Amino acid sequence: MTAGADLTGLNTLQLHATAQHLVTVISVDQLRAEIAALEEGAVPHVLGGGSNVILCDHLPGTTLLMAMKGREVLSEDGTQVVIRVGAGESWHDFVVWCHHQGFHGLANLALIPGSVGGAPIQNIGAYGVEVAERIEAVHVVHRHTGERACLSRDDCEFRYRDSLFKHSAGVQWIITEVDFVLDREAVVEANYPSLRTRLSEAELTHDAVLAAVISIRRERLPDPVITPNVGSFFKNPVISQQDIDILRQNFPEIPVYPASGDAVKISAAWLIDQLGWRGEERDGVKVSDDHALVLEGCGARSAAPWLALAEDIAGSVKEAYDVSLELEPRVIGATE
Ligand SMILES: Cc1cc2nc3c(=O)[nH]c(=O)nc-3n(C[C@H](O)[C@H](O)[C@H](O)COP(=O)(O)OP(=O)(O)OC[C@H]3O[C@@H](n4cnc5c(N)ncnc54)[C@H](O)[C@@H]3O)c2cc1C
Repeated sequence: MTAGADLTGLNTLQLHATAQHLVTVISVDQLRAEIAALEEGAVPHVLGGGSNVILCDHLPGTTLLMAMKGREVLSEDGTQVVIRVGAGESWHDFVVWCHHQGFHGLANLALIPGSVGGAPIQNIGAYGVEVAERIEAVHVVHRHTGERACLSRDDCEFRYRDSLFKHSAGVQWIITEVDFVLDREAVVEANYPSLRTRLSEAELTHDAVLAAVISIRRERLPDPVITPNVGSFFKNPVISQQDIDILRQNFPEIPVYPASGDAVKISAAWLIDQLGWRGEERDGVKVSDDHALVLEGCGARSAAPWLALAEDIAGSVKEAYDVSLELEPRVIGATE
């Protein structure tokens, strides 16, 4: 255990936060022992790769850094393979490893930063694929009691950038391992517009998709090692068909994408862009010149200026369109 640990290198916003106690977790038994040793009523914070968090200046109590490793093939049945992976494995390394084993289905999610355990939390998605499609089960430990459980895909209530783990019914679970079901003959998924354009001349193979996703992401997204960021700062709002019909009367050009059921997803980037936020800089945080949905650090070292700029952006979108923007990263610490 490290007392008064500096978390600057453990979050991609490079915020100068500290943890009262930082514990690196490498096994389920150790995790349960740490939970058992907590003072009564104490609830630990959990950190994976730190690529989707806004850390408050000081995290009181214990922060668990999930570093459990391991990749185990549990079964192979025909073309399908089930693999159990430790929560602390790097997501991108796992995707590339699967690809080289011939286990397909995750190539579109290459180069997303963070850990395997962090992936189910917001059901990571990119280029037309969501991780939920490939999750068979999620193994968890209860944050208060240390009880173990195995949640099926249905139990996890995956939705667009959302899952049980982000709500009161599931926030107590700490993910220790994830079981993925992959397929040696998975269909190549290349329908997402920018991917299709990039691959227009190429043969549609898993190799080609992996290479294209990596090259598009390298071109378009800021590298958090150089420029502090968490990828998209806001979720795309999901609204009812009735609400989009009203919105379209005043803004017919608003981009709309299908969502589940009767709902539709609208582009948060478009809403923010229309209001002239791109390039706006305040107190060391800037709306990216290239992406209205990405906020970049240019000197800010605490959560406050990030949250203040986000609040102003969301307020202006609400005023102009009567649409609520929701933060994609999780705020961790004192104001949680
Ligand atoms: C440049 C960049 C690009 C990105 N692109 C995408 C993208 O295309 N699509 C996308 O969906 N996301 C994207 N993200 C967001 C982020 O990478 C993902 O959400 C990632 O899965 C977060 O994982 P993490 O391990 O870093 O989680 P963290 O940031 O450490 O944690 C995020 C949340 O999950 C909780 N958590 C983490 N691990 C566990 C665990 N084992 N058990 C319980 N709770 C846990 C934390 O408490 C916190 O609430 C991007 C981020 C960056 C910086």
